[in-house]
Amino acid sequence: MQKRILIVEDEASIRDMVAFALRKAGMEPVPAADARAAQLAIAEQVPDLILMDWMLPGLSGLELARRLRREQLSREVPIIMLTARGEESDRVSGLEAGVDDYVVKPFSSRELVARIRAVLRRSQGEDSEGVIVVGRLRLDTAAHRVTADGQAVPIGPTEYRLLHFFMTHVDRVYSRPQLLDHVWGGSVYVEERTVDVHIRRLRKTLEPFGLDGMVQTVRSAGYRLSVES
Ligand code: CA
Repeated sequence: MQKRILIVEDEASIRDMVAFALRKAGMEPVPAADARAAQLAIAEQVPDLILMDWMLPGLSGLELARRLRREQLSREVPIIMLTARGEESDRVSGLEAGVDDYVVKPFSSRELVARIRAVLRRSQGEDSEGVIVVGRLRLDTAAHRVTADGQAVPIGPTEYRLLHFFMTHVDRVYSRPQLLDHVWGGSVYVEERTVDVHIRRLRKTLEPFGLDGMVQTVRSAGYRLSVES
């Protein structure tokens, strides 16, 4: 899945440079010139990560970070702050505001992309090799492989994406429309019952390993993945 990265930066030249670098790295940049534009973009679709300039007109990056940490929609979205040299003392207040990492200007595209990937991995519970472990299940994002107690689990592409999403959001309940948004992408037209079809296939995939109970139906709400069955 393409990672959606919100870029909050008032300087157009930096915004464009960052957007170009992210697109080249296979990510989807969403540019915003100020705090207000950022909040509108978040309301429209929650990004996977927010890159935020420290010095913004109006609401500062620090104040915006504080607000986003208080709001339901953006509470768990990782934030990387872009700072100028010499602002090191500001980092403490940034960390208190819930910022996940810093990149000091001027930075190279390569450095920025590496930091984004590291923060995304951390926030999604992956180790540096891109491996996610939930209970007896292990998903290797680099090799696109799933194993249960070390045994290979033969899995279809949609079931893999569904399982990957669940394994990075353990114990949280998602409705069918939410799963369509996150796993299939908002732009694709798919009927809600398609979700049920793939949930059934995912359970069938896990059944031979005695793990089908991990995929749970939450009545009149949706589905979740849980270690407790
Ligand atoms: Ca600025």
